[in-house]
Amino acid sequence: MIKLSVVKKLKYESAAIYFLLATFFTGCASVRVREEVKFPIQKLYVNNKAYYPLSEVCNYLRLECEYDTISRQISLRKADTQVKLLIDSSMALVNGSPLDLEDTVIIASGIVCVPVKFKAAVVDRFYCEVPAQEAPAYAITARIRRVVVDAGHGGHDPGAIGRTGLREKDVNLDIARRLASLLGNRGIEVVLTRSVDTFITLEGRSAIANRANADFFISVHSNSARTSRLNGFEVYYITEKVDDYSRALTAAKNADLDFESASFYHTTLDLKATLWDILYSQNRAEAIVLAQNICQSASRSMGVKILGVKGARFSVLRGTRIPAVLVEVGFLSNPTEERYLRNGFYRQQVAESICDGLINYSRQYDLASASYK
Ligand SMILES: [Zn+2]
Repeated sequence: MIKLSVVKKLKYESAAIYFLLATFFTGCASVRVREEVKFPIQKLYVNNKAYYPLSEVCNYLRLECEYDTISRQISLRKADTQVKLLIDSSMALVNGSPLDLEDTVIIASGIVCVPVKFKAAVVDRFYCEVPAQEAPAYAITARIRRVVVDAGHGGHDPGAIGRTGLREKDVNLDIARRLASLLGNRGIEVVLTRSVDTFITLEGRSAIANRANADFFISVHSNSARTSRLNGFEVYYITEKVDDYSRALTAAKNADLDFESASFYHTTLDLKATLWDILYSQNRAEAIVLAQNICQSASRSMGVKILGVKGARFSVLRGTRIPAVLVEVGFLSNPTEERYLRNGFYRQQVAESICDGLINYSRQYDLASASYK
């Protein structure tokens, strides 16, 4: 409905386009000398094209933002300037007048991204009042205050064991501790389900998560498969609807095999249409977005093969009420990945990827929450 009305509006206004273009070139420039807005926002690259994450643009410029999930239209407003954007369209409407952004507005891994032209075409002209105070570098603490980090297995349960004897419980614990320290540095409180080599039941882990009153539960595991050639990084979002643990595990194992041919980007494409619709009503949706962000940062910083983002009904979080993801950091059954995971530098990179994924998630959440005020 809204999409149609935009098209209609454009048609009606096309006759007056010269007038409107003339109006454009006044804008902010008429009241102040045109100057480049200081723009401390890092570019994102998707298919070798540069974009700005819209959530950060809005945070920085203090723009009100609304996203209509049905029309896939985004409205930005500050003072009396309204900008409308449409996902997959290269056109912006500024107070109803069309403007070419040269590239399309996209959703990449759940993050709304605007082409770099957006800055020169829209920000410098229409939102050139720089905020008096710079926004903080990370708007993370407002949303994510506390995270439960769960190192899988422990004590008499070693988890998977690599060919050279590397034990999953040790790898998981080391990465979990590194992650805890990275998150701590960002001002995020961390509750570790275990900080030493001890056994905790799945119910016990769940109870810790509930008591912690945390925003997220991140479980760290290392993978294993019957075939040694299987390798890669994958993230599960965990649903709570569990009544049969062994069935869930079987399903997860079958999913492992499917993942070999699956592409993270295809998953993203499938999800992106429905992602925003459910973002605020379901923990699962939050977990999906976090899982995607973690995969993306792992792919970017480690160049690791991404096997997929997939739902699994693990019982690890039976009865918990917070969004949860389970990161499988690599296959101990694969000799190369076992060698990598033995290396502390590599484990640090894994922890950094998970941390970055969480921070990117948070930035994106800010845009989304702005739209649901
Ligand atoms: Zn495990």
